[in-house]
Amino acid sequence: MSPPGEVLQTALQYLKGVGPRKAADFARAGLHTIEDLLYRFPLRYEDRSNLRSVASVQEGETVTVSGEIVQCGLRPTRRPGFRIFEALVRDTSGSTRVAWFNSSFLQDQLHARDHIVLYGTLERNPYAGLQFTNPDFELIETDAADAEVDTLHTGRIVPVYERARSITPKMQRRLVADALLRLPADLEDPLPADIRARLGFPDRRSALEQVHFPSAGTPLDALNAYRTPAQRRLVFEEFFRFQVGLLLRKRESEAERKALVTRVDDRIRDALRAVLPFRLTPGQRVALKEIADDMQRTHPMNRLLQGDVGAGKTIVAVLAAVLAMENGQQVAFMAPTEILAEQHFTTVQRLLAGTRFRVALLTGRLPAAERRSTGKAIAAGEMHLVVGTHALVQKSVRFQALGLVIIDEQHRFGVLQRALLREKGLQPDILVMTATPIPRTLAVTTYGDLDVSSIRDLPPGRTPVRTAAKPDSRRDEIYAFLRTELDAGRQAYIVYPIIEESEKTDLRAATEMADHLAHDIFPAYRVALLHGRLKQDAKDRVMRAFAAGEIQILVSTTVIEVGIDVANATVMVVEHAERFGLSQLHQLRGRVGRGSEQSSCILLYQFPITEDGRERLKMMTESTDGFLIAEKDLELRGPGDVFGTRQAGLPTLRVGDLRRDHLLMECARQEASAWLDAGASNPAWLDEFRRTWGQRYGLIGVG
Ligand code: ADP
Ligand code: MG
Repeated sequence: MSPPGEVLQTALQYLKGVGPRKAADFARAGLHTIEDLLYRFPLRYEDRSNLRSVASVQEGETVTVSGEIVQCGLRPTRRPGFRIFEALVRDTSGSTRVAWFNSSFLQDQLHARDHIVLYGTLERNPYAGLQFTNPDFELIETDAADAEVDTLHTGRIVPVYERARSITPKMQRRLVADALLRLPADLEDPLPADIRARLGFPDRRSALEQVHFPSAGTPLDALNAYRTPAQRRLVFEEFFRFQVGLLLRKRESEAERKALVTRVDDRIRDALRAVLPFRLTPGQRVALKEIADDMQRTHPMNRLLQGDVGAGKTIVAVLAAVLAMENGQQVAFMAPTEILAEQHFTTVQRLLAGTRFRVALLTGRLPAAERRSTGKAIAAGEMHLVVGTHALVQKSVRFQALGLVIIDEQHRFGVLQRALLREKGLQPDILVMTATPIPRTLAVTTYGDLDVSSIRDLPPGRTPVRTAAKPDSRRDEIYAFLRTELDAGRQAYIVYPIIEESEKTDLRAATEMADHLAHDIFPAYRVALLHGRLKQDAKDRVMRAFAAGEIQILVSTTVIEVGIDVANATVMVVEHAERFGLSQLHQLRGRVGRGSEQSSCILLYQFPITEDGRERLKMMTESTDGFLIAEKDLELRGPGDVFGTRQAGLPTLRVGDLRRDHLLMECARQEASAWLDAGASNPAWLDEFRRTWGQRYGLIGVG
């Protein structure tokens, strides 16, 4: 069979009218081949099939008209610096006024006698009467030699593309038309015919044609919502390829055999019970069972354990560790920060105090000599469990029998860890924990090669955190409330946002606020400041003092977002809450409500506040369910912003949109899985999917 899609791989410079400069502009937009060009959807579609005559347009109608510019030019207004570019456009029925505000650059683009197509609304202007205000426009060649061109740009539903530097939407339309003409009638289709038939999708060639030049009568709203069969088919195709690749990797990694086998018997069950300080919740029990089942298999576990802040993931991880250690294996427990590593170390040590297992802490703060001796003990198998930061555990440590790796807070550093471990020739079980629950769509995308366990319940006796959003003007009330809590012996956090772009000013604001609070507002209380610029040991000193109750108010930037556990802290005040993302707010709120006392989270906001900002605050006051909040966050911000595209392993997509098309992604997952199970009807395509997977989706080959 010939290599799939040869024509599609033709470089763009072979298209008529694409010279080196245009090819470079395309390349900068990520477009190199005909395939790239054809898989770049129009930004929107305009119905120019029924061009309206100028005279027939009524006030308030949104229409497309076409005509000749009679005259045009820039007009100053009474407002200084504010200028209007005006034109008079005429067709055979009459003429109309057109105005573009503050668009002086149009002087260079529009000239008398140009043929122009306008798309916009006819409005009544108090000064000028009826006119098209700020319409979209396109200049049309009237060159007789190029007669066929006209039928591309008008008289039909027309695709409008996003401009790529020097390449205008109109030029692109022409190139796309040219490219479509080159496609062979029997263009190969990567989608298996039976799947296409079942889902009612057109074949590849007609889908490409319909996406760019829809047939007359295609509903414009369906086109602009990207809901036509042709559009959905191409999105599905992208998702299908993606899922096939993902599943292949998952299956291949499942074919690997791990070196160390884990068994569970009654003696080990007793050992687990002996460690347990309380009864597991049903959610914890199910998660532990899923993990233990995985660990007993012959291929390495790749499991994500998700559960809200405080859901009790740590104990589940520790029980998994005991299971591994009872089988003679070593365990690495990696945390994203030193403070967290220390906290986990303390917890693990306490839980394992009555066992024979030895626990080591490995952080950058240890003196070099101690680090070396710990390293030696690990290599000799004398240490059973090592808690440390990611960097330390993976770089400098050799294990004698590493059987299980526990990784806390996965999304902070992505999927690379697993690859690094593989490079060391290790095939341990891997358990990744995250307190930022992942919406279903993303779970089958980003973490498609992981199995997922979710703890959705909370340990008993928790009082849900009370959440309120308050405008800055009510600050005094909040200070009064803080005082009553502090007087009752509790502690509080006040968190400031630090946005990277304005890091300096933000940091100054946080510092000044800490001073102001310490001296003017809470002179009788002990206030300290914590921020990311502090040296590690300074940070740790502050944190330890807070944990010991020596500090009552901790003013902090978002460094406390992850993991710190101080049960006596009952108030979380978030300043500029409108600037935080939903998942971040939820994480912050998770710092309180850890003890049995009623805790509060107060979201202080300032104006102006965006619609999204308002919705985020509303969601926070209405729900404490991290899973719901994650779904909402995805809906509001899109997956890239929520997880940071690359490092989180989100694919780069060219036609699909995880927010818009998430159901199609789930469908693609099922179809891809069934297709592989049935033996992948077309091996040539399977090879192609495998070969191009990493490069297509911008993902590094890990797994
Ligand atoms: P997270 O899931 O955020 O890591 P932790 O593991 O830190 O949560 O657990 C939060 C707190 O709840 C800890 O103090 C832990 O000891 C306690 N905890 C966990 N599971 C239970 C349980 N089943 N019953 C009672 N307390 C529990
Ligand atoms: Mg935790």
